[in-house]
Amino acid sequence: MRIQQELNALPFLEREPIRRVVEEFPFRTTRHYSQLMEHSGDAIGKQMVPLVAELQDGDGYEDPLAEEALSPVPNLVHRYANRVLWLVSHECAMHCRFCTRKRRWKNPVPLTEEDLEKGLQYISRHEEIRDVLLSGGDPLLLPLERLERILFSLRSIRHIQIIRIGSRLPCVLPQGIQGDLADLLARHHPVFLNLHFNHPREINGESRRACECLADAGIPLGSQTVLLKGVNDDGDTLGELFQNLLTMRVRPYYLLQMDLTRSTSHFRTPVSRGLEILKGLRNRVSGLAMPQFVIDLPGGHGKIPLLPQCVEELREDAMVLRGFKGENCSYPLLPGESFSLRNLMRS
Ligand SMILES: *Cc1c(COP(=O)(O)O)cnc(C)c1O
Ligand code: SF4
Repeated sequence: MRIQQELNALPFLEREPIRRVVEEFPFRTTRHYSQLMEHSGDAIGKQMVPLVAELQDGDGYEDPLAEEALSPVPNLVHRYANRVLWLVSHECAMHCRFCTRKRRWKNPVPLTEEDLEKGLQYISRHEEIRDVLLSGGDPLLLPLERLERILFSLRSIRHIQIIRIGSRLPCVLPQGIQGDLADLLARHHPVFLNLHFNHPREINGESRRACECLADAGIPLGSQTVLLKGVNDDGDTLGELFQNLLTMRVRPYYLLQMDLTRSTSHFRTPVSRGLEILKGLRNRVSGLAMPQFVIDLPGGHGKIPLLPQCVEELREDAMVLRGFKGENCSYPLLPGESFSLRNLMRS
């Protein structure tokens, strides 16, 4: 029922070249999200509207993070020893054109009953797993009974401490977030939600209501933002986004460099762009508003944070750091410390 808000027919989809694009990478959006668009080339349109460029991009990988290869059972990605990513939903309310998992849009991979059992068994048997991250697709689109069953089953496993859910619903289908869903999540605490917002225009009365509903249920809210060329790749836009997220009690968590997903290279920014933006924002917005800038390395080698360099010089007895107004200041080092510091900071 909640999914009825989808819009799968808009006039531009009938044009021939676009028809071929959506045959390969289906179009999907919501009334809410499409109403935020003023024209197809704006920050909202670029995330939603299919482009011929998608078919002209042969670079990159279908599965840049090697998720399929790192799945010991279907839909369960075990990359880091202590946490797993579980793709429990195969549907999103909207198809974001830059999505890392767009390989799955045409032929979705639902989590069958059998795979659900296999996943639970795998997690039960691996006591080193502490943290289960539910993703998809969008887990908050699952029928509530199914979501409840997954959460309940995970909570019955003694070594699972943390449950995290990734969702774009508060941004693209805020009406899908209601008290019954928030209560269900709250019954399985600690549950953390990681939302996905990319632009200040995605923040409005309805997304605010959705976030507040979740925050009032005691669910800590974070946000991931993908750094997208022509959408949000400047300091003013991201500064406003991060600061406004805080006003909805959403803490910016990651700013993600684009993955090397085939058909998405028109969204990719130079790595230096992300670092420049962070450097400009530091101390211009609240420290709470600063996410970590990460590259999720191709091949599943992990999320690696990058920071703008602020060490000017490393001496035997002191390190010289650039202060927030640009002046150099030294901080004393203990005897012998400079050697290990040099190793830790080696480029
Ligand atoms: C991103 C990700 C995680 C979670 O990483 P954190 O840095 O803890 O947020 C876990 N597993 C996989 C496969 C991931 O891609
Ligand atoms: S909501 Fe996430 S998983 Fe779904 S299409 Fe957008 S980026 Fe991909």
